[in-house]
Amino acid sequence: MSRRRHRVVIIGSGFGGLFSAKALKRTDVDITLIARTTHHLFQPLLYQVATGVLSEGEIAPATREILRRQRNVQVLLGLVEDVDIVNKVVKWRFHDEYQETLYDSLIVATGAGQSYFGKDEFATFAPGMKTIDDALELRARIFKAFEVAEFTSDAAERRRLMTFVVVGAGPTGVEMAGQIRELAASTLKRDFRAIDPSEARVILVDGADQVLPPFGPELGAWTQEKLESLGVEVRLNSIVTDVDARGIEMRNADGTTERIECFAKVWAAGVQGDELGQTLAEQSGAELDRAGRVIVQSDLTLPGFPDVFVIGDLMSFPDVPGVAQGAIQSAQHAAATIRSKVEGTPPPGDFHYVDKGSMATISKYSAVVKAGRIKLTGFIAWAAWLFLHLLYIAGFKQRVTTLVSWALSFMTNGRSQRVVTNQQLVGRLAMQRLGPYTSGRLIRGDETVASHDDEPDAVPYDGEEPRS
Ligand SMILES: Cc1cc2nc3c(=O)[nH]c(=O)nc-3n(C[C@H](O)[C@H](O)[C@H](O)COP(=O)(O)OP(=O)(O)OC[C@H]3O[C@@H](n4cnc5c(N)ncnc54)[C@H](O)[C@@H]3O)c2cc1C
Repeated sequence: MSRRRHRVVIIGSGFGGLFSAKALKRTDVDITLIARTTHHLFQPLLYQVATGVLSEGEIAPATREILRRQRNVQVLLGLVEDVDIVNKVVKWRFHDEYQETLYDSLIVATGAGQSYFGKDEFATFAPGMKTIDDALELRARIFKAFEVAEFTSDAAERRRLMTFVVVGAGPTGVEMAGQIRELAASTLKRDFRAIDPSEARVILVDGADQVLPPFGPELGAWTQEKLESLGVEVRLNSIVTDVDARGIEMRNADGTTERIECFAKVWAAGVQGDELGQTLAEQSGAELDRAGRVIVQSDLTLPGFPDVFVIGDLMSFPDVPGVAQGAIQSAQHAAATIRSKVEGTPPPGDFHYVDKGSMATISKYSAVVKAGRIKLTGFIAWAAWLFLHLLYIAGFKQRVTTLVSWALSFMTNGRSQRVVTNQQLVGRLAMQRLGPYTSGRLIRGDETVASHDDEPDAVPYDGEEPRS
């Protein structure tokens, strides 16, 4: 009789999920990888999809294709709704097809979503940057703002259309603000007749007192200066208190309230652990941190459940930031522990994170890097950024096409991915109506939809309703 192989279920196809599966390639296990998207997403380059430098396919290769030569893994498209960690069952569905999958070891790598600090209704007007849907929607809003400004005769409305607000001055916010300014001042410079795109205002808002807080004051100050030299208005110590279709409101450090009329807004502030974390915490007694991430044990498992690992952005572990390396290293650690169990060798024990540094681009040929005591700025930092990003993009084809797109874009200031569709622009409400599956992020229940249905002006594109 043949022995049943150890069954590993991995939830998620981000850095955590994908690297867990790859790390178990030569282990005698059967792996089922369940994810709600068919692709592995390289989130660090989402901002380039949003601003027309790269296409979505370049940063989101099919997970199935990446793993096609790994015979011990099956990839399934599904939304995991529940996990019963006592009976070792993962409950998931594809639309209304419900499935249950049993496991011996489980790796949960469902990541984190955008946090709107309790004001989820802001998402309709200020999309975050977590999914391909988000990036394409932002691309549509950014490019259409210029298009509409070109034929708008009202000066105040034209100013509003050409004002862009980015909320959150972490790496994503800094990168977005820099890219929108570059797009306006350089790429679109000669494309319009009635407007001068270089007059576009880009405002970066954050409640903190410096940009890029984790990079320290020196690199933060350098970045702010660089952004300002590009024409970005940096507004620190300002908290966004309201967002609607026509603008944002914020409270400044001196207590005054200010309203900025603007069309396209980007939300790049705060993360919130995926909802599956709550289910795992309730069943295991593990705690959640303030961002809703699961506080795991030193070997990345849940208390009392040595076969359940929580890794990547969904895990809360001392001194491990929510970055790709955190997900990759925790994935490799979880896989090594499972391998030791299957092969009867000593387990690797506690997880130790090796900080390989952080980086952010500001504009073409300019970036900041912090790796331990090493601090780099300008071209050399940008070259390091380029090299590392190419290294970690999954798939040879994607690396080549990304390199070609970058070369063309850097040499010509052009952006080859300027296609925008109405689907991208107004699809969010339609997707919310269709439910959690299609939205790309988990929207449980219909509260979001219901509240927007009551608001006649709650459409992202100022009155243009999605066509049914
Ligand atoms: C805009 C942006 C820029 C970034 N830039 C950098 C950077 O420059 N450098 C860096 O190191 N890090 C960066 N990061 C962070 C980095 O991308 C994350 O730390 C990393 O992706 C985390 O990997 P993960 O596997 O834990 O989660 P994710 O990559 O978020 O993957 C989660 C996976 O789980 C799936 N999933 C979620 N819920 C369910 C469910 N219920 N059922 C089924 N599947 C589900 C998702 O579809 C996805 O496949 C950036 C992140 C963002 C958003």
